[in-house]
Amino acid sequence: MLKVLIILGGIYFIYRHFKSKMLDGMGMDSGSEPQRGAADDVMVQDPECGVYFPLREGVSARINGKTVNFCSTECRDAFLKKQG
Ligand SMILES: [Zn+2]
Repeated sequence: MLKVLIILGGIYFIYRHFKSKMLDGMGMDSGSEPQRGAADDVMVQDPECGVYFPLREGVSARINGKTVNFCSTECRDAFLKKQG
């Protein structure tokens, strides 16, 4: 019985860890900005659709003085519309 509890505890811990990571990825605050100036094939996350893509294959836009990278012009336009 004790073993079952330990296993369930482990599953719960992994679940919580995974869930918080998911929420981080979907978060709209600008806390985690992709680092620039490194290799140009670095993977970055599209803040609009949440997909990861190679930086050089995406499109970028200056928003409030920050460079934001998107996987496509569609995502960039959708994101810009939401900025008002
Ligand atoms: Zn996208």
